[in-house]
Amino acid sequence: MVDLTRKRAAAAALFIIALLFGLGPLHSLRAEPASAARAETASAAGETPEKAACDRAAFRLVVDVGHTKEVPGAISARGLYEYEFNLRLAKLVVERLNQAGFDKTLLLVTGGRAHGSLVQRVARANSSSADLFLSIHHDSVPNSFLEKWEFLGRRLGFSDRFKGHSIFVSNSNPDYRTSLQFGSLLGKELKAGGLVYAHHYTEKFMGHRQRILVDAENGVYRYDQLIVLKDTRIPAVLLEAGSIINRDEEQAMASPERQQAIASGVVRAVENFCAARGSPLVDRIARQHSKPPAKASPLRAALHRSARAKSQ
Ligand SMILES: [Zn+2]
Repeated sequence: MVDLTRKRAAAAALFIIALLFGLGPLHSLRAEPASAARAETASAAGETPEKAACDRAAFRLVVDVGHTKEVPGAISARGLYEYEFNLRLAKLVVERLNQAGFDKTLLLVTGGRAHGSLVQRVARANSSSADLFLSIHHDSVPNSFLEKWEFLGRRLGFSDRFKGHSIFVSNSNPDYRTSLQFGSLLGKELKAGGLVYAHHYTEKFMGHRQRILVDAENGVYRYDQLIVLKDTRIPAVLLEAGSIINRDEEQAMASPERQQAIASGVVRAVENFCAARGSPLVDRIARQHSKPPAKASPLRAALHRSARAKSQ
């Protein structure tokens, strides 16, 4: 009985080693541009050759509504809270994903004060066994850029200087490469939908908000310290869907047409991401090796256990 178990463990170890070092399907998955390009090519051609690899009904995506009712984020040029925009768009994204067969998509709404809600959302994301985490926000500008205008008798801040969406990933996320892969797929789909990303985050005048642009083609920036990106133990991306401090863009963001365009981009990106992931086992191994683990990973521990069992 013990010998049989050991033989099985050894066989499993050999299989995993073959996957790790044989560089068959794993190799193509680790080189994310290749898998992303494959999915994109299929998408562009209107084909879904890898659809079978994507089990939509099993795929879990957490759609996080940025901020809370109590601490509702930025104030728009017309005096509305960011939270309202985030909630409306996140609900639409979930609805559209459900319609596309991603039944396990979870809308994550948290309450309370800022830090408490961040801890809550990370804890809920980490206990959800999800494949992907997407946080939805709407952008503003640093206070120093604000100008004043009057709207419906209220004196409010605005800045028409910047517009566009932006996508953020954290290098401190345990699965940075997969996070970036989804960020790039999302940026590509938003671009295909005619949207232009915000370029000003690379500028020095952004001060402590200045970011590194890691995918200039698709508008993906690094925001390493962001709690919801670095503390989630699953691939995580934050989308600033547009600037609500810009008077024209605020109106666009409030329109059903723009909301649908963004939701369509998210759905296509999730479809491509899910299809590019391949089989769950290979994907899990690819995740383990997407970044050197700080300590022994469960996979490595299993390999060592198997190797020990074999040598005994
Ligand atoms: Zn926000």
